[in-house]
Amino acid sequence: MFCKAFNKSLVVEPGKTLAVCCSDGSRMLKSSLADITSLSDFFYNSKRYNDIREEVKNLTSPTQYDNCLSCQRADQGYDTEMKVMNEIKFPSWKGYNNSIDLKFLEVTTSNICKQSCVMCGAKYSSTHAKLQGELGHISFMDEREMEMIYQVLPDIDYLCLKGGEPFADQNNLKILTRLYECNPDIKEIVIVSNGQNISLPFIRILNKFSPQQLTLGFSLDGVDEVYNWQRGSEYSKTVDTLNQLTKDTDLVYSILNTVTVYSLPSLLDTFEMHCSDLRGVNHVTSSNIVWTPAYTSCALYTQSQIDDMIGPIMEFKDTPEVTWNRNGVDKIKSFGNNNLVEAFSRHTEKWNNIRKLNIYDHVPELSWIGK
Ligand code: SF4
Repeated sequence: MFCKAFNKSLVVEPGKTLAVCCSDGSRMLKSSLADITSLSDFFYNSKRYNDIREEVKNLTSPTQYDNCLSCQRADQGYDTEMKVMNEIKFPSWKGYNNSIDLKFLEVTTSNICKQSCVMCGAKYSSTHAKLQGELGHISFMDEREMEMIYQVLPDIDYLCLKGGEPFADQNNLKILTRLYECNPDIKEIVIVSNGQNISLPFIRILNKFSPQQLTLGFSLDGVDEVYNWQRGSEYSKTVDTLNQLTKDTDLVYSILNTVTVYSLPSLLDTFEMHCSDLRGVNHVTSSNIVWTPAYTSCALYTQSQIDDMIGPIMEFKDTPEVTWNRNGVDKIKSFGNNNLVEAFSRHTEKWNNIRKLNIYDHVPELSWIGK
């Protein structure tokens, strides 16, 4: 099988669309929770999913497959979702045959999120939806849809909860509670959160699983003003929440950096500050390079500016306590033209006004864009 995702994985996205995995750029399943009555019936028996399996069954290389966003970047040296699925993330899956078994489930129960990160939008964040006056973009799962999620929980090996902000939606508390009742030995639960607030009921259910089952990743970009501006909330509050998590649980966690035109210049300082501010961090990943919206991408810098910034990042030696995944940072290629400068300036000014903070004062490298 070209990629195990087609036989093992299903993703429920914000807005309730169904996808094969989180790199399914063309939404090839063309379906949504609203159209179906059973997730497992859709996964095992639907003509749509089976037609897709038929379509990919003779492919051998990611570069042959246009529907997958990460496959499209394979020839630039980036890890594909397929490699993550087949070789990195799930080495234990090597023992699996190619039978069709729903083992990997990723769920976004809503786009509820109190942050408004400048590279995000209304589809993922209710705060963005409110700021844009698009209240129709606020999406919750109803009881019928939640029932469909509960039905597949007993058999999965891997659950990933994303958002929005998963700890801001009580439906995720219900999913974790049901999961503990029906599948307490699940291999892995991944939660990707902004770390702003984790309430006590969530702490209690996390404590029921063993730390080895839980992979927590918190998205933090920059520190202080850079963080506050890029994400639209207080860095100090996130630090307090995460240090409280360390007091209340035995969990360690990763920090996930989103690398934008705003956060790349301070990426190395950010790594060092996160290591000193956060007591529970044991790993940092900086491989989420923002390409879209292009006017927020770090590829807006020239190649020599990029090379000057990433040189010290790549040379930095890991500390014994915290490892740093910088894969991808070393492969950032400049867009090499100026036709995004106006869009970048407009976007930056807009968020300077919303945040009441001039980001140029804190990221002086931004004045290089377009020069
Ligand atoms: S925390 Fe996540 S969902 Fe919320 S605004 Fe930021 S990127 Fe979007």
